[in-house]
Amino acid sequence: MTASQQSVEPFDLVIFGGTGDLAVRKLLPALFHRFLDGQIPASSRIVGIAREALDDAGYRAQLREALLKICDAAKLDEFLKQVFYRPLDARKDDGWDDFAALIKAEPEHVRVFYLSTSPELFVDLCRRLGEHGLNLGQSRVVMEKPIGRDLDSANRINDAVGKVFSESQTFRIDHYLGKETVQNLLVLRFGNALFEPLWNSAHIDHVQITVAETVGVGHRAGYYDHAGALRDMVQNHMLQLLCMVAMEPPSSLAPDAVRDEKLKVLNALRPIGDANVGSLTVRGQYRAGVAEGDHVPGYQEELGNTRSNTETFVALKAEIANWRWAGVPFYLRTGKRMPERVSEIVVTFKPVPHSIFAAGSGTLAQNRLVLRLQPDEGVKLWLTIKHPGPGGLRLRHVPLDMSFAEAFGVQQPDAYERLLLDVVRGNPTLFMRRDEVEAAWRWAGPILAAWSASGETPRPYAAGSWGPSASVALIERDGRTWHDDNE
Ligand code: NAP
Repeated sequence: MTASQQSVEPFDLVIFGGTGDLAVRKLLPALFHRFLDGQIPASSRIVGIAREALDDAGYRAQLREALLKICDAAKLDEFLKQVFYRPLDARKDDGWDDFAALIKAEPEHVRVFYLSTSPELFVDLCRRLGEHGLNLGQSRVVMEKPIGRDLDSANRINDAVGKVFSESQTFRIDHYLGKETVQNLLVLRFGNALFEPLWNSAHIDHVQITVAETVGVGHRAGYYDHAGALRDMVQNHMLQLLCMVAMEPPSSLAPDAVRDEKLKVLNALRPIGDANVGSLTVRGQYRAGVAEGDHVPGYQEELGNTRSNTETFVALKAEIANWRWAGVPFYLRTGKRMPERVSEIVVTFKPVPHSIFAAGSGTLAQNRLVLRLQPDEGVKLWLTIKHPGPGGLRLRHVPLDMSFAEAFGVQQPDAYERLLLDVVRGNPTLFMRRDEVEAAWRWAGPILAAWSASGETPRPYAAGSWGPSASVALIERDGRTWHDDNE
């Protein structure tokens, strides 16, 4: 793991899809923040690429407008001097010679090609990068998720990219792994003597992972309808979080030591298919409702297609078939148009074996470790304590609360800030290796196939609710409830 102020070599970072939502909303602001912290060497260049006919000045003007919302103009203009634009179509020849000449003008620079376009273009982009001899010196390629829509398409993309860039040059980004809390999970688990002895089926009752969004699909409806919640969230982000919770202690933080352990978890996931998909998964699709105080349309209305069966919600019960985790369910839940925007991992410990307290003292609740990834990153450990004051012993369940922003007095950097510089430095620890992506698809693929074979449509839920009632039943059948931080 790299400290935030380690030096950075001069680099060229090319963003294919430089005018897109991800580039403008996440990547450029992340780079600008690193610039403000003095981590973008003066000769480094950021090159935006898209088909739109813009020049450097036009692109800078577009970015200026977007970035002004987060910073003051003086520093911004300095930053934008390092930003360039080249109009290119991934599928056409025009403009590639000019672009190649621009990149080759700085042969000593670290070179990062960030594929922030739809995955169908990854193959063409890499082929052309190869044909123009741009994989020279220290070059790396970054792939955004989703990598394919199933195992076959993921393999096609990985094979095509692999013809030009070696595995060690390939960075498959999952920005959840760049979040402070996720890295803190590693530190909590392996930097304290307290947790690891309890981190197994003898002491942990179950684990919940929730990624809830209040937004609907909005302008990404076209993409989303081909993906759905399982492909968009579960196959990548949520399985990566599950791996970080469940993996064995790696021998070091060397990239392959961590990734080897994650892979073992993915390979140990109990298969879900035709026989058990009905009892272990729930999929839903939002209907019209009230979200964040406003009446909002349902998914099909937003999409303009009343026949779409794409799920916007998934809840499922996963199990890891190994000695450490046998019998410990991992409940995963993700959805759009939920009542709150929250991403968290909740580890619930087993109840104490015997209560010595009088019946009227209150409930002995189970300890919970809550790792919140967003909105306010932090860790809470829920403990039972005595309510202060005279009188009888009254038990209270309270959190030891460590909001990172409050505890350290700083806003945490966005995950992309860290991950982009990890790419420049060539540190792939927090990126997915090809075999991880494949293992995740091998587990997710049969779920998608079983849903399709069942012929069942996703269960409706009102926008602004926590999903179909069947998702509550999924966990309550086991005598458990979804974690509510307000309880
Ligand atoms: P987007 O807003 O649709 O942007 C796509 C970009 O690609 C635009 O700059 C577009 O510009 C360019 N483009 C399209 N066709 C092209 C072609 N033939 N040649 C060259 N450039 C082309 O998409 P996005 O939301 O930024 O997403 C980009 C990628 O990141 C996708 O794989 C997505 O799944 C992934 N992702 C996005 C987010 C997010 O929050 N947005 C989050 C996670 C992952 P022109 O049309 O002018 O060419």
